[in-house]
Amino acid sequence: MKTKILLIGIDGLLLNLAIESGSAPTLAALKEEGFYSPMIVEVPTWSGPGWSSILTGSTHAQHGVKDNRFIGHNLLHRPDLLSRAFYQDQSTTTFAAAGWPPIVDPTGLGPIIHERREQQLAYKHRVIVRDGETHGYRSVDAEIGHAGLYAIQNFGPDVSFIYFCGADEVGHTRGVLDHHYLEAITRIDDMVAQLDAAVSVRAEERGESWLIALTTDHGHVDKGGHGGDSDQERASFLIAVGRGRSHPEWPHQVGPENIVELLLAERA
Ligand SMILES: [Zn+2]
Repeated sequence: MKTKILLIGIDGLLLNLAIESGSAPTLAALKEEGFYSPMIVEVPTWSGPGWSSILTGSTHAQHGVKDNRFIGHNLLHRPDLLSRAFYQDQSTTTFAAAGWPPIVDPTGLGPIIHERREQQLAYKHRVIVRDGETHGYRSVDAEIGHAGLYAIQNFGPDVSFIYFCGADEVGHTRGVLDHHYLEAITRIDDMVAQLDAAVSVRAEERGESWLIALTTDHGHVDKGGHGGDSDQERASFLIAVGRGRSHPEWPHQVGPENIVELLLAERA
């Protein structure tokens, strides 16, 4: 049976700060247990180009997303992880849930993850679209987390992307040295724990093979904000753990544009 992939995206997460402050016990444990590599993201450190690189396996020059306006992008020619898994094997089921509309909303900018409407009609591709920019990510992240949990428990999609933005939101308003940033991280960490538990139950009870990977698109300067080229803004990471299988053995020099290839190779 092919390995099922769950990629969890946590926007604007300073992993070292999260772990050293004790705010992210789940992330700390996953980092210890499985594959871990620090990662440096390209400049400018905006979410649009960042997630486009991670999700399409491309450099900024290749996907053409320069900032969060997505003007002149090349995403239609840079299919995302879920789409590529489907094109590779058309029995593949996929799931995406995100509260930042450019990632999944077909009526907005982007979307980075292709709509693939025919596969949605055939229940091969499920998409949960929320708008955290309008409604705030605290409640929207909780909805995304619950939708992700429901999907894993009930459908067990072959390739999923689940995205949280509550930490980034608070990073912008309060800065990353404020306890609110760490509390937002803890809320996400708890959802990661629930997703991991749901995956582990499936792996155990159904004998399925799963890979859970986690990453971020950029960090933040201390007072909050990103886009520049400081080490702290460019700091990212890749964590991956196996459930019902071994942890992956990947080179410890990973760039955002390598993640799709690494994950798809685990499905081969
Ligand atoms: Zn971001």
